[in-house]
Amino acid sequence: MTVPDQGEMEKTVVGGLSALLGPGAVVTEPHELARYEQGWRYGRGAALAAVRPSSTEEVSRVLAFAAARGIRVVPQGANTGLVGASTPDATGSMLVLSLERLSRLLEIDPVDRTVVAGGGVLLSQLDAALAEQGLLFPIDLGADPTVGGMVATNAAGTRVLRYGDVRQNLLGVEVVLADGTVLDLMAALRKNNTGLDAKQLFVGTSGVFGVVTRAVLRVVPRPAQRATALVGAASGATVLQLLSHLERGLGDVLTAFEVVSADALGPVFRYQPRLRNPFGAALPPYTVLVELSTTLPSERISLDDLLESTLGALLEGEAGEGITDIFPGKPSDLWDVRHHVSESHRHEGEVLGFDISVPRSSMAVFVDAARALVAAEYPFIRVCDFGHWGDGGVHLNLVWKKDEAVRETPELKAELQPRIYDLAVTSFRGSFSAEHGVGPHNQAFYDRYTPALVQEVCRTLKARLDPQGLLGTTRLG
Ligand SMILES: Cc1cc2nc3c(=O)[nH]c(=O)nc-3n(C[C@H](O)[C@H](O)[C@H](O)COP(=O)(O)OP(=O)(O)OC[C@H]3O[C@@H](n4cnc5c(N)ncnc54)[C@H](O)[C@@H]3O)c2cc1C
Repeated sequence: MTVPDQGEMEKTVVGGLSALLGPGAVVTEPHELARYEQGWRYGRGAALAAVRPSSTEEVSRVLAFAAARGIRVVPQGANTGLVGASTPDATGSMLVLSLERLSRLLEIDPVDRTVVAGGGVLLSQLDAALAEQGLLFPIDLGADPTVGGMVATNAAGTRVLRYGDVRQNLLGVEVVLADGTVLDLMAALRKNNTGLDAKQLFVGTSGVFGVVTRAVLRVVPRPAQRATALVGAASGATVLQLLSHLERGLGDVLTAFEVVSADALGPVFRYQPRLRNPFGAALPPYTVLVELSTTLPSERISLDDLLESTLGALLEGEAGEGITDIFPGKPSDLWDVRHHVSESHRHEGEVLGFDISVPRSSMAVFVDAARALVAAEYPFIRVCDFGHWGDGGVHLNLVWKKDEAVRETPELKAELQPRIYDLAVTSFRGSFSAEHGVGPHNQAFYDRYTPALVQEVCRTLKARLDPQGLLGTTRLG
């Protein structure tokens, strides 16, 4: 008997998948495949093929087909994840299961205040449809991910302070397990205390327990008005003082509190000349984007007036010490600045990103400690820190020019990751991944910081839900 070679095996697999899903659903041409093989920032591999089912039933058939042949599969949404978990490994033997065609289902129920969405629906699609009905899915971030990807990474973003992350806004999911079994957990209940909340197994677990094909999301009334301002602060301590002051004075009208250091903001204005820089050449050490929002119309209460009077009163009191500037501005203009921060760093050279959280009260001290650590031994690296201080989240982007570096990027990454993560997790009781989830980029640190018992529980779950270990490139136990 002759054993089929690798090329023949691939042809058989691709032929089988094409027969299952029809033409156009299986991508194998290298120039078309490339975008499924390369992550946004980390993760580059080689896929046997990308498969694009367009219904739950097709996802189930693909997974059953792969399971029967022992083929590993990585689920992929919009490929905007930042831990290298959405792309295949380098073996060329994995399938990319793209959910991009599961984007048609989008049913809004204004009475339940829910939306049922396909796993491949984009955040922008969701937002446009909800806007028509005066509703909002309150996850807001600088990329355009899919519903399934947001569930698998428990995405958060800039309005967690007010509305929480995906976990807190998810009522139900439908998932397909590695063997093709469909698990329906789609009850749209806000209250359901009947033991284990099984849908949470699929939230923030990088798609390794199952593929999210549908979700029921809780939505909120869309604010009728927003008011925003950029506030300059002389230090991290001033930023925390401002946060306490605004929370005390404004309660839940305060929707976002985003902080960008001068080093992180500089590149935005350098590479996005169309964005207005109200500060001029001398950026304050920290810039805070403050957003207020309410569902009440401006005839009832003017948020612009409220913001102006609150910030004005601040300047007159002790809490205003260290506030250097206040620039009210149009929300869309100010958010445009904030959403270009991460992207602009890529123009500056090499970027090593850290997505850290620490208790809010420790944020200023933690960032200073991280800066001191880097300055002492890596003077060619700039710490460009920015993020969601209102939630205790900070992105530390370490940025350097390749030709000024003393060592190659992979070596620097290997040296710096344990030092910064140890500082955050061990010294400050923080998290090594505040909102981007777990993937090959930070796998070693998941292994290092996750209690052995938790890893053991994950191993047990994986053995039941995906006994051959076929789903994903992340290992939770
Ligand atoms: C410029 C920029 C800004 C960002 N800002 C933020 C931010 O502020 N807050 C934040 O939380 N994130 C942020 N992100 C990260 C990113 O947008 C999220 O991780 C996003 O939720 C990933 O969704 P996706 O559809 O792109 O998934 P992908 O990147 O395709 O996949 C991410 C992970 O989910 C798995 N997966 C994807 N789809 C499914 C599915 N249907 N079922 C099961 N598993 C699946 C993949 O296997 C992978 O493990 C940002 C990203 C960029 C590029």
